[in-house]
Amino acid sequence: MNIVLIGIQGSGKGTVVENISSQFEFDYISTGLLLREEIASGSRLGMQVKEIINKGNLVDNQLVLDLIFKRLRNNKKANVIFDGFPRNVSQAKDLEKLCELDLVVYLNLKKEDAFKRILNRLNCPKCGLTTSVDKAKSGICPSCGAKLERRADDNEDAINKRFEKFYSETYPLIDYYKKQNLVVEVDANLKPNEVADLVMRAINEHNYQK
Ligand SMILES: [Zn+2]
Repeated sequence: MNIVLIGIQGSGKGTVVENISSQFEFDYISTGLLLREEIASGSRLGMQVKEIINKGNLVDNQLVLDLIFKRLRNNKKANVIFDGFPRNVSQAKDLEKLCELDLVVYLNLKKEDAFKRILNRLNCPKCGLTTSVDKAKSGICPSCGAKLERRADDNEDAINKRFEKFYSETYPLIDYYKKQNLVVEVDANLKPNEVADLVMRAINEHNYQK
């Protein structure tokens, strides 16, 4: 079963993936993660990717597709969740050539709510933990004790730019997939466990119908 997860930054895609991973076995394919893994592997492709990113350029579409294709070919799990890909309709058409989709989950969150969440978010530079200003009032990582930071690109200008990009490029994907009857929309403003339950229900119902 192949699932695409779509949502504005801050809509909790990562949390959903974490929460459903105890109930559902899948290969998680995130573009950002794939690129980082390829670089870490030290492969020729990875070195290419590193050079492109270090120069501040975007990795081109074909390269991302190659990585996804390679990953799908090596995947042993029956289920795949895509996060951050496809990013636009053109990429969706590319993905169709690689695999058939079964479900598209759209985590719907109002821009204002996403904004609040992102600005409330803190990251641990040492262990990678993500928490919030509300939860970690001391500003210290509860897991390793390092000083928590806001990500450099979590400022209002950068967030607005990413939102604009989402609404102009990614949002049309939802209509595109609605026409294929693939979309389940989930209210991302609910509590994390409620959101995860709704996503799990959509997955189960889909399996049931098949
Ligand atoms: Zn930490």
